[in-house]
Amino acid sequence: MQKTATKKRITPRRTVSQPNSGRAATDGGHQLWPSDGEIFDRNCTLCPRLAKFLARARIEEPDYWNAPVAPFGDPNARLVIVGLAPGFHGANASGRPFTGDFAGELLYRTLYRFGFANKPVSISRDDDLRLIDCRITNSVKCVPPQNKPLPIEIQTCNRYLKAETRTFKQGTVLLALGSVGHEAVLRALGLKPSMFKFAHGAEHELPTGQTLIDSYHCSRYNTQTGRLTETMFEAVFARARALLAARR
Ligand code: SF4
Repeated sequence: MQKTATKKRITPRRTVSQPNSGRAATDGGHQLWPSDGEIFDRNCTLCPRLAKFLARARIEEPDYWNAPVAPFGDPNARLVIVGLAPGFHGANASGRPFTGDFAGELLYRTLYRFGFANKPVSISRDDDLRLIDCRITNSVKCVPPQNKPLPIEIQTCNRYLKAETRTFKQGTVLLALGSVGHEAVLRALGLKPSMFKFAHGAEHELPTGQTLIDSYHCSRYNTQTGRLTETMFEAVFARARALLAARR
C-alpha cells in the first residue's frame, strides 16, 4: 500500500479526461476502463466509510482525484500487478495507481528496468508514461483511512477485481504486492486463499491457468525497515520476466 506520511503536490485531476461516462477514454495512450460498474465505477459509493472519507477529502484537498482509482496499463497485459489501495497523497491525489508517493517510485523504476514501462517515473495522469505488457490494479479502489481497508471493504470491492479477472489470459503472470492483494486476487478468481500461502518470492501455479507470484509490498515502511530490499524486489520482477519470455 502506498504510505501517506509524505505529502506531495501533484497535477490536479482537472487536467485529464474523466472516465465517468461509460465510454472508453485514453490516458497516455492507454485505454481507460469505462466507468460502467463492471471493472470500474468512478462514482461507486458501496463502502460507506470510504465514501465519507472521500467526501471529506474533496473539501480538504479539492485538487486531488478523490474518487475510485481505475487500473492503469495495457488492457491485454500478460503481467498484472495487484496492489492494495490508493495512498491518500499518492494514487488518491493523482488518479493513477502508485503515482505520487514512495511506493510508486520504486515500482515504476523497477518496471522500467525490466522493460515493462517506457519511463522510470510516473508523475501524473498526463505524463505519457506507458506500461508495456503490464497493468497495475488495486484490491480496493478507494483510499482508506490510515491505509487500512476493512475486511468488508476488501470483500465489497472484490466485485471489480473479479470482473477484471475475466480479462486474464492463460499464462498471465499475476504479481501480488502484499498479502491482501494475494488473497484478493485469489478470491476474485474463485480460489481459496488458504490453498496458496503468501510468502515473498513464492510462486503458485493456479488451476485457472495463471501464475501468481508474491512480493512484499514496496511501501516506504517495508523498504526502510529492510523487510524488502530493492534487490529482493528486482528478483521478483526478474522471475516474472523469465516466465513471460518462456511463454512467448
Ligand atoms: S472501495 Fe470499491 S466497492 Fe468500496 S466504494 Fe470504493 S470502488 Fe466502491
